[in-house]
Amino acid sequence: MTAAEPDPAGTPAGGRAFAVGLRNRFRGITVREGMLVRGPAGWGEFSPFAEYGPRECARWWAACEEAAHHGWPAPVRDRVPVNVTVPAVDPERAHAIVAAGGCATAKVKVAERGQDPAEDLARVEAVRDALGPSGLVRVDANGAWDVDTAVRMVRELDRFGLEYVEQPCATLDELAAVRRRVSVPVAADESVRRAEDPLRVRAAGAADIVVLKVQPLGGVRAALRVAEACGLPVVVSSAVETSVGLAAGVALAAALPELPHACGLATMQMLTADVTADPLLPENGFLPVRPVTVDEASLRAVEVDPAAWRARAEAARSAADEVPGAG
Ligand SMILES: [Mg+2]
Repeated sequence: MTAAEPDPAGTPAGGRAFAVGLRNRFRGITVREGMLVRGPAGWGEFSPFAEYGPRECARWWAACEEAAHHGWPAPVRDRVPVNVTVPAVDPERAHAIVAAGGCATAKVKVAERGQDPAEDLARVEAVRDALGPSGLVRVDANGAWDVDTAVRMVRELDRFGLEYVEQPCATLDELAAVRRRVSVPVAADESVRRAEDPLRVRAAGAADIVVLKVQPLGGVRAALRVAEACGLPVVVSSAVETSVGLAAGVALAAALPELPHACGLATMQMLTADVTADPLLPENGFLPVRPVTVDEASLRAVEVDPAAWRARAEAARSAADEVPGAG
């Protein structure tokens, strides 16, 4: 870069792209990619998934821009409780993951394609055993069950005591139907992607809890507005970001007036590398509320050609003018 070029601070033109391996396949991908931008307030992450077009990406860009240019609202707590996540593994592995996680809450993947209900039951039983009676167990079906299967499975799994079931079915009508038939609370995750979705979830009687993520909602302030308008308890979750993106999730969780449930922000372990020398990893089941600084050597180790990501961010920034809440 020469002195004649405009200052790219906090703009797509100055973005640094990264590609970090995933320890296990997630959403069909094995590498998590994105771009980091440094502005006057700090670092921001822009890491929409590949299938999202510019209009969808506008909110992800707004979240990055907020972090880089404005920072976040003051926290009301200095640490955030988080859950350990148990993928669709065998019971022995599930037990080991929970025992090593140090968290009082575990989220267990269920309804995995190609597995049968007995595997879900064995996995949840192993997790309950590892956590002990005081731990909290939530299950996540990622929308895979139909209503009858969900009702049957939730009742069976509740033998081991469930905190809630996350996205048992795909649609709001199905979630509402399940919710009427089981006593276990229902959380909406995939049903919440846009700012207006939590209100629709509530209006449909589809959930007791909403899972909110910072990037798809357009930033910490936008997510706080969504939480307030919705009025349901919030579980803040990540989009499997680097510690830079996770810090935004922690900032949201730290700024919410009430935080009755552990958050899904302990996802740094899913990545094989980070962009900071001091990754946001849980300590005794909590993430600290603190700034994250990019470490130049760590970033260089995962850095890739930024051209495509800069173009994507520019397109997202242009689209933001047309997307309510993303500007
Ligand atoms: Mg989920």
